[in-house]
Amino acid sequence: MYPEKNLHEAYARQLDEQDDLKRFRDEFYLQTGKIYLDGNSLGLLSKRAEKSLMELLETWKTFGIDGWTKGDHPWFYISERLGELCAPLIGANPEEVIITGSTTSNLHQLAATFYQPKGRKTKMLADELNFPTDIYALKSQLEIHGYDTSHLVRVKSGDGQTLQEEDVIAAMSEDVALIVLPSVLYRSGQILDMKRLTEEAHARDILIGFDLCHSIGAIPHALSEWGVDFAFWCTYKYLNGGPGAVGGLYVNQKHFGKKPGLAGWFGSNKEKQFDLEHDFQAADTAGAYQVGTPHILSAAPLLGSLEMFHEAGIEKIRAKSLRLTEYMMMLIDAELSEYDFKVANPSEAAKRGGHIYLEHAEAARICKALKENGVIPDFRSPTGIRLAPVALYNTFSDVWQTIQTLKAIMQEKRYEKFTNTRDVVA
Ligand SMILES: *Cc1c(COP(=O)(O)O)cnc(C)c1O
Repeated sequence: MYPEKNLHEAYARQLDEQDDLKRFRDEFYLQTGKIYLDGNSLGLLSKRAEKSLMELLETWKTFGIDGWTKGDHPWFYISERLGELCAPLIGANPEEVIITGSTTSNLHQLAATFYQPKGRKTKMLADELNFPTDIYALKSQLEIHGYDTSHLVRVKSGDGQTLQEEDVIAAMSEDVALIVLPSVLYRSGQILDMKRLTEEAHARDILIGFDLCHSIGAIPHALSEWGVDFAFWCTYKYLNGGPGAVGGLYVNQKHFGKKPGLAGWFGSNKEKQFDLEHDFQAADTAGAYQVGTPHILSAAPLLGSLEMFHEAGIEKIRAKSLRLTEYMMMLIDAELSEYDFKVANPSEAAKRGGHIYLEHAEAARICKALKENGVIPDFRSPTGIRLAPVALYNTFSDVWQTIQTLKAIMQEKRYEKFTNTRDVVA
């Protein structure tokens, strides 16, 4: 049913030759003989990220304390500068974005700021497929306010993999004060319609924010235009900022001036911060929601990495990502149909994020066999395999080779020598 020639390696090579982002691959540290498809868990190091990290380390060596204000990237302004560089990736104004904290700590800050139960409006709305840390954070915020965790309503999934926007909207009842949802679901890679959900939430006088961990750097957004109230993300997945790199947050400018739930001196108006007064004067930008001293060395790689996103452009990155996942789905359909894999990501482009999600009863050991055979996938307990061909460094040939490897593993049952259990980090 597919043109026979499209299944051959030569076709993959042809797609690689036509790829207008191919020059970026050489800028990354790729292990020889390995195909890395785990960039949605931890993106790879690029030479530019390495260079910016070394430059910042050098400023410490050279300037000591004066590094806060001297050098090409004075530390005092780095969080704002990186926010500016991130803004086009999420469709925000530069002042609406700051690089700070982590996904979880930023959610705590934003929930502490925007969850203000009043009268009947006391509930939070999330979903049952959300990443656990978001749920933990929301529950603890409820408890701080003296509510029981049953105040967190979680929208149910009909199929265990995806959410229906209609169901989310139906759950936006009068008693909901705050909604927190992922932009892209971490397992199935489903993209939620953020524009529509924001409109519906606002029509009911509910504030809404999104966790962008699986969308930033992979798909374009228009957060300001959609009027999204707030968002937060990590930078070590598609943004290739390095393990534990500093996260980010966005606050819509209509909320500027709103008192941070968790105040700290780095949220100060920068002119006033070193007056060292005990009355906090918050910045009139998203910078207000910073807490303490920025983690300069964990932010430094982003200076180099984000430059690459600018050169490539998020629209082109998304276009290539869609072609890669489309091609992978075609090969899975053509080559793996007899091995009981279920493609559990949405197949329509508008709903499909940056990765392919396969379900298989033997997923844990299939992942171990893939690793032994040179392909780095991502296992999600209990039965999920995520494969993320990343636009900046993966190729169509990587995708072709991955599916060939997977086919050989299934044909020869190479996974049988492993146990079907997860590792400590999986
Ligand atoms: C990766 C990820 C996180 C991670 O949170 P950290 O605070 O950075 O550890 C949170 N939420 C989602 C949806 C993620 O994919």
